Amino acid sequence: MRTAFVTDPSHVAHTAPGHPERPERLEAIIAQLEARGLRQRMLERAPREATDAELLRVHRQSLLDAVARASERGAWLDPDTYTTAESVGIARRAAGGLLVAVEAVRHGDADNAFVAMRPPGHHATPDRPMGFCLYNNVAVAAAALLADGVERLAILDWDVHHGNGTQDTFEADPRVLYVSTHAAPFYPGSGALEERGAGNIVNVPLPHGAGDAAFLAAYEQVALPLLERHQPQFILVSSGWDAHARDPLGTLQVTTWGYTRAATLAVEAAQQLCEGRIVVALEGGYDTHALAWCASGLVEVLLGDAPTPDPEPADMSPGDDLPSLIASARRLAGL
Ligand code: ZN
Repeated sequence: MRTAFVTDPSHVAHTAPGHPERPERLEAIIAQLEARGLRQRMLERAPREATDAELLRVHRQSLLDAVARASERGAWLDPDTYTTAESVGIARRAAGGLLVAVEAVRHGDADNAFVAMRPPGHHATPDRPMGFCLYNNVAVAAAALLADGVERLAILDWDVHHGNGTQDTFEADPRVLYVSTHAAPFYPGSGALEERGAGNIVNVPLPHGAGDAAFLAAYEQVALPLLERHQPQFILVSSGWDAHARDPLGTLQVTTWGYTRAATLAVEAAQQLCEGRIVVALEGGYDTHALAWCASGLVEVLLGDAPTPDPEPADMSPGDDLPSLIASARRLAGL
């Protein structure tokens, strides 16, 4: 497989003392991809800055103004979400990096892609930057695909937090299937089973401590049949790795193996449904070992290799209320 790779060394200037959304996250991923010889096998593409017009497909002008104003002073947008003087350019390249990746896959220059950029995006709503996110990178890429004539696409979101910004963006747009697995009750508070949008939103809120069995059941028994029904022409993944057992913020106890298995299911679905067109973008994930091994496992899957096992696997602890939860998710999704 030809896998495009987009990253941006300038991300290091987006940083705040003691904040978990820190440059070391992405540095750990890059170091691992280089040490395992994986970066060298991908088709590297430089990011570009997303334009106002591209951001305005998702966001209101008021959000662009608020981010620009805060960044001028290096101010905080909310108690979680910082900026520095460099943040506007870095965040525009994070969104533009996804645009470069989807363009490469859409035009056949690559089969699939991994976008390793910061800051993350899935909490940014049309009018509100929040939860470490300035612009909603994946939503901006999805909106670009729709503007370019794609009629049906799917977004999978396996970050431990619900992607409220992505749901808000597309909840009235049946062209976009959005499926999220996340811990509940948890930040940002949205993502209940009953939140269905125009029938195109499917949330699988998992109990704390759910583990690989629950996480993978959600993909095998809910996400995959939904993908088959939706017949997307393109799949995007909001790949937060903070559901990992090692993560200091997450509580879902997913292992590197579980995440790599979910990546395999997503890539196989893309091969079956849309000629392999899948673009995976970094969202959250705050343990550097988990980030490194989940990212290298993902890239091996994208390249068509057998994934290398994490040398420090975390314990699995499957939850009790799994069968009724999955049954509810399937019933509400009409499966
Ligand atoms: Zn997260």
